[in-house]
Amino acid sequence: MKLLVTGGAGFIGSAVCREIITHTDHSVVNLDKLTYAANLASLDPVSSDPRYRFVQLDICDRLGLDAVFNAERPDAILHLAAESHVDRSINGPAEFIHTNILGTYTLLEAARDYRDGLPSSKRDSFRLLHVSTDEVFGALGEEGLFTETTSYDPTSPYSASKASSDHLVRAWNHTYEFPSLISNCSNNYGPYHFPEKLIPLVITNAVDEKPLPVYGKGANVRDWLYVEDHARALLTILSKGRIGESYNVGGRNERTNLQVVEGICAHLDKLKPRNAGGQYADLIEYVEDRPGHDYRYAIDASKMETELDWRAQETFDTGLEKTVRWYLAREDWWRPLREKKYDGERLGVLKQNAG
Ligand code: NAD
Repeated sequence: MKLLVTGGAGFIGSAVCREIITHTDHSVVNLDKLTYAANLASLDPVSSDPRYRFVQLDICDRLGLDAVFNAERPDAILHLAAESHVDRSINGPAEFIHTNILGTYTLLEAARDYRDGLPSSKRDSFRLLHVSTDEVFGALGEEGLFTETTSYDPTSPYSASKASSDHLVRAWNHTYEFPSLISNCSNNYGPYHFPEKLIPLVITNAVDEKPLPVYGKGANVRDWLYVEDHARALLTILSKGRIGESYNVGGRNERTNLQVVEGICAHLDKLKPRNAGGQYADLIEYVEDRPGHDYRYAIDASKMETELDWRAQETFDTGLEKTVRWYLAREDWWRPLREKKYDGERLGVLKQNAG
């Protein structure tokens, strides 16, 4: 098959492109606008493969999308392009509305037109997988898990924009019989993660002996999934999932933010003891909490496990150690990002609280 991946220069999209080229016979067209979050260096392991192609395009550009569909004739779409950072959505929601809602709408319409023009043999197998987040379900208390039937209750500009796009995808399936599927995944981590997100921020700050920021008391809970497990899950859903269905993807790895940061520190103490002496955990600094910070997310991945026979291969501890080792070995990848695109400044604080 020829797969079109939107957002393939981002963290998860690049893992999907690497997975396709390395572990399947499919070819891939990576369509990406190249925002601040994109990094073509994340495709270096596969970019010279003849089955890989890159096209720079905004998913809001309808004419551009039509031209790419007609030139490339994809068999299926994995839609990952999005603005993805909750803290940035608090400071500037406009891009989130634009890309995540209008962009998804534009892609759906272009894909619907393209599919309608396909010969029936290709039309019948065409599908679009919309990649979404568990944040659309809102926050959990101490108990319970998100299932595919949990009601939507998004609370941040990011999660509200993703929830909107999920509703559009579902409506296109219901109204136009457009062959779509949705995945809702928990927090990802792993190699090639832009250093604004918790895990790479903490690792790269620690290497530079900078404070390790923990929001509030560090008590918020996330359910962590290694990015390569997510990439495998997406290809499984695309090939075996039922049209019109949604699938929750998670690794059954709940951790408080403080546990995550302490886990990183423990790996670093072992792999790269501090020159200055002491332990990395001494660098932890508690900072003002994120406004409206959802307390807990946790995924029930039973449907993926029983219906599609997928399960996460990494535990949080094995995946975190791999990730820390990767950042220690690949300073060439992250150092230019810290120097030129994001130097670790606090995002997502409201002006009236900023002091
Ligand atoms: P990312 O921010 O690392 O990458 C997003 C990519 O989309 C970038 O390469 C960017 O250039 C591209 N993009 C942004 N706007 C675009 C536009 N208008 N047109 C074309 N390309 C555009 O994000 P990520 O963490 O890789 O997340 C990918 C998808 O997975 C997103 O849809 C996100 O909502 C979803 N998701 C992420 C997580 C997570 O933990 N990171 C968890 C669940 C779901």
